[in-house]
Amino acid sequence: VRRLHSDEGAQLKTRPAVVTVMGHVDHGKTSLLDALRQTSVAAKEAGGITQHLGAFVVGMSSGASLTFLDTPGHAAFSAMRARGAAVTDIVVLVVAADDGVMPQTLEAMNHAKVANVPIVVAINKCDKPGADPERVRIQLGSEGLLLEDLGGDVQVVEVSAIKKSGLDRLEEALLLQAEMMDLKARVDGTAQAYVVEARLDRGRGPLATAIVKSGTLLSGQHIVVGAEWGRIRAIRNMVGKVIESAGPAIPVEIEGLKGLPMAGDDVVVVDSEERARMLSNGRKKKLEKDRLHKASE
Ligand code: GDP
Repeated sequence: VRRLHSDEGAQLKTRPAVVTVMGHVDHGKTSLLDALRQTSVAAKEAGGITQHLGAFVVGMSSGASLTFLDTPGHAAFSAMRARGAAVTDIVVLVVAADDGVMPQTLEAMNHAKVANVPIVVAINKCDKPGADPERVRIQLGSEGLLLEDLGGDVQVVEVSAIKKSGLDRLEEALLLQAEMMDLKARVDGTAQAYVVEARLDRGRGPLATAIVKSGTLLSGQHIVVGAEWGRIRAIRNMVGKVIESAGPAIPVEIEGLKGLPMAGDDVVVVDSEERARMLSNGRKKKLEKDRLHKASE
């Protein structure tokens, strides 16, 4: 494999943060993602209809944007990390105001800590009569989370996914967190990307949602994705529009792969079909070898 472009000396530009929502079951992760998706300017322009890509962008009227991974939960986060894909910049930790800190809340905190990803807390269900956000703050504090109202730097926002309240403040908090992290990416040159979701479409074949880490992915390029290969026939954005190229942190759907990759797989651009086939073959052999090795243990 040829060496990928090094980011050294390349011109870096600010990129949107990639955010994962985690928390205990039933605390409102899915509801919160739905509510956030509806706040996007792009979603509004497209009549609120966005295709399910496994990730979506919330564009704000200020021009700033945030990218959310649409698969809430720890399994997805861990699976991606196990495959080496550190795509998440910020974790939104959802805690229901009535239920408080629960086992999976602690698990999510631990995942974020191990991955060295900062947390922004969303205390959800604040519309409920039994809501007690103060208790949640105390619980989180006693679990070692350094909340900003207690002198730490972890931001806490009270929201209601159902009433759609507090969402603008949550977005502001995420933008502030992103700003502090000074997230930048190389825009020019060969793309490096990760798959966040893949599915098989009857008519269009294997489709992979990818997020570019650096560089620009172009339609027509030969790619190897995990152990699969293909040539990009079309790139679509989250409202289903065909676009010619994709830059950093924007989720896009790639059409043209010969097989179905997995979440967390890397996307490598190569300069010919032959190289794509060869690299894919090599990776398939390696996978098979690892599988046999595991089976014999
Ligand atoms: P998840 O398992 O974390 O994805 O949780 P869901 O989004 O599926 O929500 C679990 C339940 O809580 C559903 O019945 C939601 O309608 C409800 N729910 C989610 N957010 C809120 C909220 O802000 N207020 C109230 N009252 N109910 C909520």
